[in-house]
Amino acid sequence: MKKDVIIVGAGPAGIFTALELVQKGSKKKIIMIEKGRSIKERVCPKSVTNKCVSCKPNCHITTGFSGAGAFSDGKLSLSYEVGGDLPNLVGADVVQEMIKYTDSIYLQFGADTKIEGIGVTEEIKDIRRKAINASLKLVDCPIRHLGTEKAQDIYFAIQEYLLANGVEIRFSTECETIILEDGVCKGIVISDKTGETTSIYGDHIVLAAGRRGADWLEKVCAENDIAHAPGTVDIGVRVEVRNEVMEKVNDVLYESKLIGYPKPFKNKVRTFCQNPGGFVSQENYDNDLAVVNGHSYKDLKSNNTNLAILCSHNFTEPFNQPIEYAKKVGELTNMLGNGQLLVQRFGDILDGKRTWPKELSHSNLVPTLPDAVAGDITAAMPYRAMTNIINFIHAMDKVVPGFASDETLLYSPELKFYSNKVKMDTDFNTNVKNLHCLGDSSGWTRGLMMASLMGVMMGRKLL
Ligand SMILES: Cc1cc2nc3c(=O)[nH]c(=O)nc-3n(C[C@H](O)[C@H](O)[C@H](O)COP(=O)(O)OP(=O)(O)OC[C@H]3O[C@@H](n4cnc5c(N)ncnc54)[C@H](O)[C@@H]3O)c2cc1C
Repeated sequence: MKKDVIIVGAGPAGIFTALELVQKGSKKKIIMIEKGRSIKERVCPKSVTNKCVSCKPNCHITTGFSGAGAFSDGKLSLSYEVGGDLPNLVGADVVQEMIKYTDSIYLQFGADTKIEGIGVTEEIKDIRRKAINASLKLVDCPIRHLGTEKAQDIYFAIQEYLLANGVEIRFSTECETIILEDGVCKGIVISDKTGETTSIYGDHIVLAAGRRGADWLEKVCAENDIAHAPGTVDIGVRVEVRNEVMEKVNDVLYESKLIGYPKPFKNKVRTFCQNPGGFVSQENYDNDLAVVNGHSYKDLKSNNTNLAILCSHNFTEPFNQPIEYAKKVGELTNMLGNGQLLVQRFGDILDGKRTWPKELSHSNLVPTLPDAVAGDITAAMPYRAMTNIINFIHAMDKVVPGFASDETLLYSPELKFYSNKVKMDTDFNTNVKNLHCLGDSSGWTRGLMMASLMGVMMGRKLL
């Protein structure tokens, strides 16, 4: 089989590559290969079972049309400062311009017109003053909040649009590897759900496998000498507090992007993915590693706000396996929780004791992830990361009084694997001719908007 453009992965990066080609009138034959299912067939059984059942062969939360975007909170970050390192590759101005364009496509497919985090300047000034006092940087980032359920409607509309415009999408089909001849990428080998393998040849091969496909891409890079460098990993916790504690920041900014470099290590520590009235959730990686995440619905609201606190780890020689390192931390935490996520009260961490299940009911705060096991996350968290988290929470308390209260909940492990960074030029060419790597698996993005706009840029380059 021969196509003009082969796209591996139907997450935002892959989708927007195809979408831009179609919307700009390209007649190229496009095929998308996606190991998960179509968007309407993605159903996480947890709403019925109340606990994660580790779906096989793939987790519905992270695979399938729209990738990790479908069940995400759908927060589109409208600033080049948030969502990845792409500005370092193509320039901040270009990225900001592309955010504007890509945002207009989300609006075209039904995104809410409201933008959070703009207009209330006096309140923002007050939050910034407190951040300065706490040695934290407040990043300005307007947010368009799709909401988990609305995000699915938008991506469904895009899926139908692509299909109606002749894009072939093969679901439940996995890309095994790429076909390389004389240093040129000629195609890919796929396997369907029966295990049967087929080769597809194409002029351009775009790999957009997401964070979930990071291990696979790492293997493909190693086997085919695709130039790449070890990436960053973030190790941290998901923090949950009552909405009352976060009320001001939630109302004014919706999402507070705060960055600090707490003593003594002075590593970068930041807040990430804030969900006012949201729910803490569990996702499972292929090897059954359970990690914590969070999301919020447009309509259904809890009494709590959750957000991640992440410490970035960049390793130096001779160590070059950051993803494996983070996984070990996660596995150790899972082991202590008998395969489940751990949750601990901040006060217990400071007191040097585990949290007992009955103690959770002593608080104003009721956990939104009831199947997390009360325990001791400090028994698995590396000293450096734990110290960074504790000191950062104390700094946050100056911006958000009550954040460092005894009852504040810390869920673990919250891990972000940012994939090895594939070396590319500004046209997204790797050192292997006709091969391009996009989105989170390329190591250059880590958010919906940045992955989407990288897809748009790729689509334009393939016109
Ligand atoms: C629970 C959750 C909440 C999030 N919330 C937000 C948020 O609010 N805002 C935000 O900006 N970001 C959020 N993110 C991150 C965001 O979803 C990702 O940054 C974004 O989806 C990355 O897009 P992508 O196209 O690079 O990869 P992905 O969305 O991960 O898509 C990659 C696709 O490739 C497929 N794939 C992988 N390997 C193969 C293979 N070998 N063969 C075939 N198919 C393959 C996968 O099944 C997947 O569908 C969230 C992520 C999660 C998990």
